[in-house]
Amino acid sequence: MKQGIHPEIKNTKVVCTGCGNTFETLSVKENIAVSICNECHPFFTGTKKLIDSEGRIQKFEKRYKEAKDKQEQHKEKKKKK
Ligand SMILES: [Zn+2]
Repeated sequence: MKQGIHPEIKNTKVVCTGCGNTFETLSVKENIAVSICNECHPFFTGTKKLIDSEGRIQKFEKRYKEAKDKQEQHKEKKKKK
């Protein structure tokens, strides 16, 4: 390997904030926090649980509802004319 151009690889502890699982890997970064890992991802667990740690689904549902309401208001306006 050429000297001075490669980043230093360290033993890194990875912590899953979703399920608390920890494991070690090699990385140039120390102490990595992930929100989902192989222990809790539905692909590996086989469950169809929705993982929504940041409320994205609620946000989407709220937006969807608002859009639907607007559409209905629009329709009602058209009927009145
Ligand atoms: Zn996990």
